[in-house]
Amino acid sequence: MRSFSLSALAALALPALFSAAPAAAQPARSCHYDIRLHDPAALILDVTARCDDTGPVAFDRPGEAGMAAALERFEPGADGRSVQYRFRLGDLAASPEVAQRIGPAVISPLSVWLSPPDLPGSTAVTLSVTAGDGLDIATGLPQRDGLLRMTAADLPYGGFAVFGRFTRRLLPAGGDAKIELVGFPGRLQLDDATIDTWVTDSAKAVSQYYGHFPLRHTLILATPVRGRAGIQFGQVRGGGGGTMLLQIGEQATRAQLYDGWILVHEMIHLGAPFVTGRSFWLMEGMATYGEPVIRARAGWYPVPQMWHEFASQMPRGVDALTIQSLDAVTRRGIYWGGAIFMLLADIDIRERSHSRASLETCFRAVLNDGGNTTVRWPRAEFLRVCDAATGTGTMARLAARYVTQAAPLDLNALWRDLGVKLTADGVQFDDAAPKAALRRAITAGS
Ligand SMILES: [Zn+2]
Repeated sequence: MRSFSLSALAALALPALFSAAPAAAQPARSCHYDIRLHDPAALILDVTARCDDTGPVAFDRPGEAGMAAALERFEPGADGRSVQYRFRLGDLAASPEVAQRIGPAVISPLSVWLSPPDLPGSTAVTLSVTAGDGLDIATGLPQRDGLLRMTAADLPYGGFAVFGRFTRRLLPAGGDAKIELVGFPGRLQLDDATIDTWVTDSAKAVSQYYGHFPLRHTLILATPVRGRAGIQFGQVRGGGGGTMLLQIGEQATRAQLYDGWILVHEMIHLGAPFVTGRSFWLMEGMATYGEPVIRARAGWYPVPQMWHEFASQMPRGVDALTIQSLDAVTRRGIYWGGAIFMLLADIDIRERSHSRASLETCFRAVLNDGGNTTVRWPRAEFLRVCDAATGTGTMARLAARYVTQAAPLDLNALWRDLGVKLTADGVQFDDAAPKAALRRAITAGS
């Protein structure tokens, strides 16, 4: 199952992705949320939010349809710029988009339980969190001077947070990057050390692709799935700070961890902005194409199997380019249609730059320009930064051909040129094919 986020799709419809900064004469506004967690059974959040005193502020009720049962005493303050409410996390409906109960803990995105102020997106938001009764709270938000920090623009896309009883382990991810891994004791058959090594190994493999690990701080919530094996599901939410939900079957084995694609796929998402303007094909194309390549380079995925996956799965994405256009494509097409686009781009960049650049040159430039999962970029900006880095104009040319219109594509000719031939039980390589060296370079890495 590809980790397809319906809430992310819904977010496309939200207006004002980039809110205008307030007029120069007006000081930037700020709001502070005081959050207190108590009651181990019900997991109750008492929230007081107050904005600065430059004018009245209205707060929207948190929680969409189906979450009303969890909200109590929503009371705007008499000062016209504050609100108090109680949120019963234990009463939230179970779904990854809303809440997930794992024994004595609940996972729920910030966007579910934080009441947003009707202020510009540039408004600074600080949170102070306290937990009583032996409970704890973890978020992906950066912390400075004892306060968690984000902006009002981040609120609708806010990352996952976890409440209750759980464990935290801080793993090195190269340089000053750290992964905070939240676990739920006594649920997985695998021991913590095996999980930690796998997460660290995956971070290393992804770092070789991007040049470094995408974020300085990432919160990964490793949640157990009863009665299942292998890795079940993953999802990244980046508003304000990078967070990842990673569902692991309780019976998962060490071999299944390294055989699974989900963690590396989601880590690729950490290293790219949320691209606005019907661009799921771009984000999912990056991850669908990059993940098998990264795992092949790490030695976890045999190279012939990788090309077998590409040659057997990419035909599912052809219509997205040749009939629908990537702009118009939905569901399945965003993954394999996007992956075809990335393979075409990788080959074109390598050819035109005489192997001085590759698709990674483009992705690294976007990341180093601040384009990680905590921000939102227009597609044109992504493609421009990419092309500036490779000097090949590849992205602009391919986008003009396949994004807003459909155009012909001969995938069979591509496999022939790369020297990839599907057989009954795998692939056969032809090293005399005109682009065989490019094919080998893709899995050799830099
Ligand atoms: Zn994805």
